[in-house]
Amino acid sequence: MKELSRIHIAHLPTPVEFLPALTQILKGPKLWIKRDDQTGLACGGNKTRKLEFLLAQAQAQGARTLITGGAVQSNHCRQTAAAAAKMGLDCILVLSLSQKQSRLPALSGNLLLDRILNAEIRWSSREEREQTLQKVYEECLHQGRKPFLIPYGGSNPIGAAGYAYAMRELIEQQKHWSELSSLDWIIVASSSGGTQAGLVAGAKLFGYRGKILGISIDETEESLKKKVATLATEVCALLGEPYEISPQEILVNDRFLGQGYGVLGEAEINAILTFARKEGVLLDPVYTGRAAAGMLALIQERKFSQDENILFWHTGGMPALFADGYQRILRQHTET
Ligand SMILES: *Cc1c(COP(=O)(O)O)cnc(C)c1O
Repeated sequence: MKELSRIHIAHLPTPVEFLPALTQILKGPKLWIKRDDQTGLACGGNKTRKLEFLLAQAQAQGARTLITGGAVQSNHCRQTAAAAAKMGLDCILVLSLSQKQSRLPALSGNLLLDRILNAEIRWSSREEREQTLQKVYEECLHQGRKPFLIPYGGSNPIGAAGYAYAMRELIEQQKHWSELSSLDWIIVASSSGGTQAGLVAGAKLFGYRGKILGISIDETEESLKKKVATLATEVCALLGEPYEISPQEILVNDRFLGQGYGVLGEAEINAILTFARKEGVLLDPVYTGRAAAGMLALIQERKFSQDENILFWHTGGMPALFADGYQRILRQHTET
């Protein structure tokens, strides 16, 4: 097993907590939560673990400018901007607008934080985002700004390896929780697939025997399974273990895509209010709200037995609650 070089920007290990009220109300399996919303860097989230390894690589290459891209409310972009600030690097974010958006969005939620953290913003249509990213990279190269390109969601093998090590961290924590020794399920939001792929690779490498279920945020089961399997295989290879992981080994549920990526619907709102009001845990409108909604639905359908232990892996995203569009919807549901 290889240890990849990393920088230390995350608060680790993140806590594991029992969710007593939700466990009781649902009369279902025992529910636990892994608090990767508390990784510590500028509101935290799962991308911080990936960035510890991506930035070690950037540093080794003498990079001076980090470039990455995402949606307007990208948590990955906000955490990259914070990591760049902390490391004394410039940061350029290519944010993509959907066709419906005719004006530039107001600075709110993650986008406001990007600017507070001093990231330069470049706008692109969704269709042209790859070309724009490439163009910005070339530009920086010619200007001698030593650019380093981080993929969407930080999801290449090096970034995803952060979640193989996160699995090792959880296995270490299990040793101190006798109840958790039989952890049957991990449930996690899965989008670019890096988090799930890292966890799957970590399970193979460090010996976790339970299941890992990705709740798909914006993709069909078939294509996400392929993506996760390929990336998990690459993570194992990177860490020096030639395991071949096939799409059939990957568990993905794509029943909770709702009205599409980033559309906050009734199911997500219900999950956000339930976690907040019963456990004091804040979810986000795009990822963890949807994943938790999926988990709640599956528990209500009795997919799990009462003696099972389920761990919801919280991946962060809280600042998006304060994005103009989401804030407006949430206000309507909470005004008395
Ligand atoms: C990016 C993100 C995810 C998805 O992680 P992937 O590794 O891209 O699958 C889940 N939750 C939050 C809050 C995120 O920001």
